[in-house]
Amino acid sequence: MIRTCAVRALAVILLTVVPGSFSALPARELTPAMKTAISWVDQDKAAYKDVATYIWENPELSLVEFKSSARLQQYLAANGFRIEKGVAGMPTAFVATWGSGKPVVGIMGEFDALPSLSQQKGIATQKPIIQGAPGHGCGHNLFGTASATAAIAMAKAMEKHGIAGTVKLFGTPAEETLVGKVYMNRDGVFDGTDVMITWHPMDVNGVDYASSLAMDNLKFRFHGKASHAAVAPEAGRSALDAVELMDVGANFMREHVPPEARIHYIISKGGEAPNVVPPSAEVWYFIRAPRRAQVDQIRGWLIDISKGAALMTQTKSEYQILTAVYEYLPNRALARMGDEVVKLVGAPAFTPEDQKFGQTVLSVMGKKSEGEPFSTGVKTPDFTRTFPDVPNSKASTDVNFTWRFPTVQFFAATVVKGTPLHSWMAVCQTGTDPAMKAALQVSKYMAAAGLEVLTDPALVKDAWAELQQNVTRFGYEDPVPREVKVPTFKDLYGIEPGAVPGAGK
Ligand SMILES: [Zn+2]
Repeated sequence: MIRTCAVRALAVILLTVVPGSFSALPARELTPAMKTAISWVDQDKAAYKDVATYIWENPELSLVEFKSSARLQQYLAANGFRIEKGVAGMPTAFVATWGSGKPVVGIMGEFDALPSLSQQKGIATQKPIIQGAPGHGCGHNLFGTASATAAIAMAKAMEKHGIAGTVKLFGTPAEETLVGKVYMNRDGVFDGTDVMITWHPMDVNGVDYASSLAMDNLKFRFHGKASHAAVAPEAGRSALDAVELMDVGANFMREHVPPEARIHYIISKGGEAPNVVPPSAEVWYFIRAPRRAQVDQIRGWLIDISKGAALMTQTKSEYQILTAVYEYLPNRALARMGDEVVKLVGAPAFTPEDQKFGQTVLSVMGKKSEGEPFSTGVKTPDFTRTFPDVPNSKASTDVNFTWRFPTVQFFAATVVKGTPLHSWMAVCQTGTDPAMKAALQVSKYMAAAGLEVLTDPALVKDAWAELQQNVTRFGYEDPVPREVKVPTFKDLYGIEPGAVPGAGK
């Protein structure tokens, strides 16, 4: 408790220097309601493990997470939540609600897996369960379940302690393709939420106070004319030529975009055989940059390049926006509260056996651990910095609503230090006991933070003031135009769901 008092004392000193900016003081200690939520999470361990294991054992790709979504809905419904499914045009997206009226706390739950990462759990050698099948390389089996557990724990505490408000668990599919939350946000599913709470499996414990890259994900398709490539090439118009010229144009454009921008592409369709002039071709682009406005500018230029390529080759061009996201906007008022909560609840309590398994994974990765393999510390960000002067990860996220709703994001050490997410080394850990233990710790962080939000109107007010300040300074406009439809599975992966190895198992 000494440390938290010191933090509070520091906040009081700062309050006198910067009026208003630290008015939302974090909880000095865990409230009785928080304690109720935390002990409920501990009691619920077995149910949690059942759900997280089921999702790990049934890894499903973006937009076809039928089993995972249904299992989470069942878990929430059994605990008194009302379920609305199939929201925002995605059959696996859902909203589970408990309580009524303001304030409204939203908790995000993801549950999709990644292609070709099938891997047995608890063994530190690469061994797929089904060759080429999906696997939980990002730990979303833990994610969705820990979020649902947090929402239920909040509801139990609200009921027992007579706390007013609403808790919503947003079941957000297709995170790995950055689709789910983007369309749920655009279509108003999150409207009315006061504060958003989310988390992500990681190798550290703490709260997020960083940004990410804004991103566009779009496909350009060209349509030409087929012909015998040797006998009558003059009768054909090559869509592949157009793709190649477009890529040349894009590569010359690179010099003239902000240096932090990242532009990557693959030719997802280039023709069927060399002796046929390709009548159709497709190139798939990701554009990333620190600010959304920079991505918008590059997108416009790239569309012009595609038109130029079509003109040069006498083909026709079209493009499809699959998804578009903003950079992550951290909220300092909420992150400071979250940091305090993590310190009060503490890091996961890993056993020597957990650490022994962690050590084996580390040695397979050829890494040495500084301290314990599974982190037992809490990492505190540098809160003296403000957006945009915060660390910026080079990745992107579909946690896109941070520009519309103040958001706090937690991390917990569900994998050993230095584990690359999206790898079989992550999959072998995300179904194990230490990972479950860390995820349950996050349920406690999120439930406690949610209860704090429900009972501290000044905190919510500060969080919104900070958000408004950033929106005024940088602007906000939904990056996915209204007329754009949710992509299909085939748009995202180029194949039908039934063609995925292990599908229908
Ligand atoms: Zn993830």
